[in-house]
Amino acid sequence: MLRRPLAGLAAAALGRAPSNGMSGPRPVVLSGPSGAGKSTLLKRLLQEHDSIFGFSVSHTTRDPRPGEENGKDYYFVTREVMQRDIAAGDFIEHAEFSGNLYGTSLSQEQRLRQRNTETEESLAKRLAAARADMESKPPLTLPPPSGEEPGLFDLIIVNDSLDKAYWALKEALSEEIKKAQAIGHS
Ligand code: ADP
Repeated sequence: MLRRPLAGLAAAALGRAPSNGMSGPRPVVLSGPSGAGKSTLLKRLLQEHDSIFGFSVSHTTRDPRPGEENGKDYYFVTREVMQRDIAAGDFIEHAEFSGNLYGTSLSQEQRLRQRNTETEESLAKRLAAARADMESKPPLTLPPPSGEEPGLFDLIIVNDSLDKAYWALKEALSEEIKKAQAIGHS
């Protein structure tokens, strides 16, 4: 599903950070062209592991596409409102992409924190870094595709079979899932 990153979706892994303060739960960012299957895979993951993953709904100034719901897929806002709220410090990260603003509001980050995600600072940093990664190459860059840059993505999944792609996604997240399940059962 990841080749030329054009769009991203984030789901934050939940669960308490270990007491040693080291590698706690972390945001998971799915990035790939529109229609690659990100929402489908994420929906399945959230259905199966509702207590482990939550969805961070981004804000955007772009127009909703058919079927997209305000507050579910994105918060669709005007540029005026978003710029005002960014200036007021209501966003933990934001970026302009293809002529539209995108960002993660503080309230989304607080909502996920209440579900025991990691610290505010590290979550903000990770989200900003993920967005920077997604935008590190302009869309439709000819070879080499940005997804093949070393270190840009933890995993590249080709979604030619939904079951296989979902299995690969779950496999990649298995440590996070096990950690969160262990905490949940302790
Ligand atoms: P994205 O969130 O990346 O824009 P979607 O998850 O909305 O993409 O998927 C776009 C469409 O493709 C949906 O109709 C979905 O059911 C379908 N789809 C997703 N994965 C597959 C797949 N492996 N094979 C065929 N169709 C798929």
